[in-house]
Amino acid sequence: MTARTHDLSAITAFGLIIAVQPVRAVTVATAIFALFANQLGGVAPDIDQPTAPFWRNLPIGKFFGKEIDRLLGGHRFITHSLLGLVLFGLGFRWFLDVLHPIMTKVDIHIVWWAFMVGMISHLIMDTLTKEGVPWLLPIPIKFGIPPLKRFRVTTGHLAEKIIFITLFVVDVWYIFANYSHLVNIFHHIS
Ligand SMILES: [Zn+2]
Repeated sequence: MTARTHDLSAITAFGLIIAVQPVRAVTVATAIFALFANQLGGVAPDIDQPTAPFWRNLPIGKFFGKEIDRLLGGHRFITHSLLGLVLFGLGFRWFLDVLHPIMTKVDIHIVWWAFMVGMISHLIMDTLTKEGVPWLLPIPIKFGIPPLKRFRVTTGHLAEKIIFITLFVVDVWYIFANYSHLVNIFHHIS
């Protein structure tokens, strides 16, 4: 899947989770950091791809992208597994713990969850593609839905575009269906 689809699926997943949660007070800083972390989590597994936008946008990103790719075992390897999810989760938690003393207004628990939801949505979306996802590494089997490869999505092709539009429609529906819930959340932002 392309980074664009991953970004959209990350925010969609996060939005749907917020919709079923009771309204709770969060600060503006928490809301901003949570959104940022959610988008970061949505593309984080693809740091193992030298051509990922993540690397393309850095001045010497191409070089680093290639090196990281080699270190992580190539595309769709450790970063696309439950093991990678745990390692990224622990790493991001550590990063937030370090930052917490200088950003006391941020609820790092929510920010961490936003990141994890983004990352999980990435793995689920990639599971729908032809390449599949090695969820159970070090067991080197790639899983896909549906199990028959030819019914799965090819990155960038029509099926992905249909998924993108569907997610977009879900988001628009979501905003209208949960309008009062969302307004309530913003009322509680301080
Ligand atoms: Zn991926």
